[in-house]
Amino acid sequence: MTTTTSETQQTQQAQHEAAPHSEPKTYLNYIGGEWRPSVSGQTFDDINPAHQQEVVARFQRSTPADIDAALHAAEEALPHWRATPAPQRGEIILRAALLLEQRQHELARDMTREMGKPLRETIGDIQTAIDFGKFVAGEGRRAEGETVPSALADKMCLTIRQPLGVVGIITPWNFPMAIPAWKTFPALLAGNTVVLKPASDTPLSAAHLTEILIEAGLPAGVLNFVTGPGGSLGDALVTDARVAMISLTGSTEVGKHVAELCGRDLRRCSLELGGKNAVIVMDDANIEEAVKAVAWAGFGTTGQRCTATSRVIVHEKVARRFAEGLVAEAEKLRVGDGLAAETGMGPLVNAGRVTAVHEYTEIGQLEGATLLTGGRPLQEGELADGAYYAPTVFADVKPHMRIAQEEVFGPFVSIIPVASYEEAVEVANSTIYGLSCAIFTESARTVFRAMRDLNAGLVYINAGTTGAEPHLPFGGTKQSGNGHRELGRKAVEEFSEVKTVFVSYPQVE
Ligand code: NAD
Repeated sequence: MTTTTSETQQTQQAQHEAAPHSEPKTYLNYIGGEWRPSVSGQTFDDINPAHQQEVVARFQRSTPADIDAALHAAEEALPHWRATPAPQRGEIILRAALLLEQRQHELARDMTREMGKPLRETIGDIQTAIDFGKFVAGEGRRAEGETVPSALADKMCLTIRQPLGVVGIITPWNFPMAIPAWKTFPALLAGNTVVLKPASDTPLSAAHLTEILIEAGLPAGVLNFVTGPGGSLGDALVTDARVAMISLTGSTEVGKHVAELCGRDLRRCSLELGGKNAVIVMDDANIEEAVKAVAWAGFGTTGQRCTATSRVIVHEKVARRFAEGLVAEAEKLRVGDGLAAETGMGPLVNAGRVTAVHEYTEIGQLEGATLLTGGRPLQEGELADGAYYAPTVFADVKPHMRIAQEEVFGPFVSIIPVASYEEAVEVANSTIYGLSCAIFTESARTVFRAMRDLNAGLVYINAGTTGAEPHLPFGGTKQSGNGHRELGRKAVEEFSEVKTVFVSYPQVE
């Protein structure tokens, strides 16, 4: 049986309006302007991590054949889309941003149900998509190049930006709307067509983004949405000759695998990967301020932000005071369902993450660090059915310990005492990662030294390690990425190619 796009959309809309806890809606792939089932005939469940019995929605368990169809559609749509004036492409993105704004609260509820973070955070996630959509839409009227003098007479030189072609976008689950939007918007604005594969823990928010872009007027085939397992689908997308660029945000492990595959064909790939972000607290810092900032940056989003604070490098003179303050904040946090107004911290994204985080508690204890609070799954009362973990603080951590070197990706903070600024910087820079780093100090001299000395793509002064602003570049050094930057004006550069043009106009006799 075939259904038209509008019939399918109407059905999807009607199902959406039904009670959220009734039979979950089954979403289809969106390929070539049609909502289509996978050729596999199989689906997978999008589970609420606060109540793991609740299936939020069902999604297509796609195969490489679905990726093939999506790439075919993206390739077909490319000539028309790249010929569409950039300001018109920007208008569609602006409309999408305004639609997101209209539906922000309803979309945030769905995001909390599929991902777990509290409503105020999912509202913020969508706000990032809105803000960046508004910002990048305006780039359609800029997309500036250079015009410079030629070394020769009767000649002019300039550069123009051109789309790359078909772009494959692969996204993680921790910012289910912001990250798909901050990749898809600039890719589309630059004139590329897109195949989007979201993380299997949070496909619903990416499906909502797709629906909104369609409603905003995106032509058929320009954005294609395919769900399913990262390994098989990802590899099919990453190795296909029709793909000009892969943009992936995810773990450093998967990033390395994707980079290797792309490297074989010299395919462009932009990778935003893991972090082991540190806050330095100097002995002249405002300790109360530092404690509050670390509690938010370490336990917000249940520690599942690429920029989450997972190390605090504290001057030994204030280490005890800082640790006492942080433990008090951790123990005050109300853990629960992100839909409840009083919840301060939601669940981890799935039960597998509870096991993974708990392994790090065991590692920390074996390594000889001191567990000050937390260090256990939470299963009491209303939490019984969810993937909850207690906010965890370790003290007496040594820089070489695994809990000080590896990304835990949970509500897990390691406190490392040091004796000087120099030692603090050495420890901060001692991991394979370089995403975000912060320092608390009241000394202007130390502020400027830290701006120079910290090896990270993002540096915060007297603030925690989180909190990107979408009009500024975002990305990391070392193994936190491969040198690209997202957001800001860099985003459009990333998804386009510079062409240098030489125009000769000598007088013809
Ligand atoms: P992940 O690496 O497991 O998955 C990311 C995406 O890659 C998912 O869509 C997944 O399905 C896909 N994938 C998995 N295997 C693949 C393969 N072989 N080929 C292609 N794609 C494949 O990461 P995650 O668990 O979804 O997200 C958490 C990680 O993301 C953390 O390490 C975090 O630090 C990182 N992250 C980084 C940033 C940043 O901007 N630097 C932002 C958010 C998250």
